[in-house]
Amino acid sequence: MTQATLVVDIVELQRRTGTRRSVVADLVLADTAVGDRSIVGGSLAIGVVVEAATEGIVVSGTVRGVSRAPCRRCLDDVDEPFEIELREIFERHPSEGETWPIEDERIDLTPVVRELALLALPLAPLCRDDCAGPDTERFPTGPAEGADEAESPERQRDPRWAALDALTFDDVADGVGEERS
Ligand SMILES: [Zn+2]
Repeated sequence: MTQATLVVDIVELQRRTGTRRSVVADLVLADTAVGDRSIVGGSLAIGVVVEAATEGIVVSGTVRGVSRAPCRRCLDDVDEPFEIELREIFERHPSEGETWPIEDERIDLTPVVRELALLALPLAPLCRDDCAGPDTERFPTGPAEGADEAESPERQRDPRWAALDALTFDDVADGVGEERS
């Protein structure tokens, strides 16, 4: 069964420390785009154990999904399955950025798995190890080779330099000598 949120009731769990409950769910998150990266279909497979511990409610297990991001060389979309191990703590008085809140005897796993999954999106994937980048025939990035040759410094050289090329070192030395005498 797919669902948009994952909220777990912890009333039963809290009756006795050490009580565990397994939670398996397919979550479909609404908006998972981070720039040009996203989770394919917003779809995450959650498999966790929720346990009443002395420090609060401990949730541990895995989150699986498929990330989508552009190849850093050719910019084609790259889809890659990922699996994240998680271990998070829920408390009545959570510490900002460290633990999550218990509210109305329930814990909401949605923002937790969302944050972890978005952090798992690759920054600069490669579509394949030997991706050569953009198709150079369709998207040339520089002058074509023929043009390169025509523009080469040798061929475009100012003709006046040819006269200097003809001079040898000795000619120049003699000229200087003559001027001084
Ligand atoms: Zn590529």
